[in-house]
Amino acid sequence: MSRFWSDIVNKLTPYVPGEQPALARPVKLNTNENPYPPSPRVVDAIRRELGEDGDSLRKYPDPTAHGLRAAIAQHHGLRESQVFVGNGSDEVLAHTFQALLKHDNPIRFPDITYSFYPVYAQLYGVAVDVVPLNADFGIDVDDYRAPNGGVLLPNPNAPTGRALPLAEIKVLLAANPDSVVVIDEAYVDFGAESAVTIIDENPNLLVVQTLSKARSLAGMRVGFALGHEALIEALTRVKDSFNSYPLDRLAQAAAIAAVEDDDWFRETCEKVIASRERLTADLQALGFDVVPSAANFVFARHPEHDAATLAARLKEKEIFVRHFKMPRIDQHLRITVGTDADCDALLAALRALL
Ligand SMILES: *Cc1c(COP(=O)(O)O)cnc(C)c1O
Repeated sequence: MSRFWSDIVNKLTPYVPGEQPALARPVKLNTNENPYPPSPRVVDAIRRELGEDGDSLRKYPDPTAHGLRAAIAQHHGLRESQVFVGNGSDEVLAHTFQALLKHDNPIRFPDITYSFYPVYAQLYGVAVDVVPLNADFGIDVDDYRAPNGGVLLPNPNAPTGRALPLAEIKVLLAANPDSVVVIDEAYVDFGAESAVTIIDENPNLLVVQTLSKARSLAGMRVGFALGHEALIEALTRVKDSFNSYPLDRLAQAAAIAAVEDDDWFRETCEKVIASRERLTADLQALGFDVVPSAANFVFARHPEHDAATLAARLKEKEIFVRHFKMPRIDQHLRITVGTDADCDALLAALRALL
């Protein structure tokens, strides 16, 4: 606290990211990073952009990120004017709150979801009607029919990993023709149906994706939104009133290469999915209840062991998982799917602890 703080800063409860331990070789299963490196083409592209002496860094990057937006548009069968890019999808989501979700009516999102949403709502003064998930952590789209200022859902949801079928998202869109429906597809490539395919017929749909998870580029900070031109223009207006250059030169070059290397992306996703299925079965064999996951993490609880204690014990062994001290989920652990070796280290530690 300080007398120099603004009123809004006094009232903020900031988001708390998962720990990035300063250890040589932690088993890091706490922030849903990809256990595999990005495409080798990404490394080449960064070297090429940098050049011999780094001369390119003298100059500002392209403020419109034309090359990257064109690559993303091409990949998804859209026009460049239907693509917005930002410094991580967190930034894209933040601009979305200000540009498309701040209206008279409260917006709706689930009680158990990405914990950044309430933070943005507070930062931008957006009223919220929180909608409880059902007992199985599922989303019932009928709970999103009341008049609202917008609807925001991750698909698959985080931290549960549960996916919502595209048919349900269509129902949600039809029930909310007068508000923007934002589908945060941070984990969609690990097994959910993307709503990108129905953008053309839904002017109120904004799909947000990231290169942090399936494309192994969390360290580069690149996210994007796809939707009708009018929605994208709203985001661009906010961006150009905030920071004209959210993506640096190296990030733009890296992201283009990552988006273009489809084979690498598919192989990496398949490896993660196979490890997720194995991890799920092995956790169940140890007595865990595991929520069916379509993401690169699993959400699990053990009926006889306190989750916070398990997380603390694992941390002593330099194995990091995520525990949320929140109502309804304080007995769950969110465990990122690592390499098979990471998963084996986790399972061996759990076997010893239980
Ligand atoms: C990881 C994550 C993001 C943010 O990703 P960045 O692009 O790294 O900012 C957004 N939404 C959800 C649900 C996530 O889990």
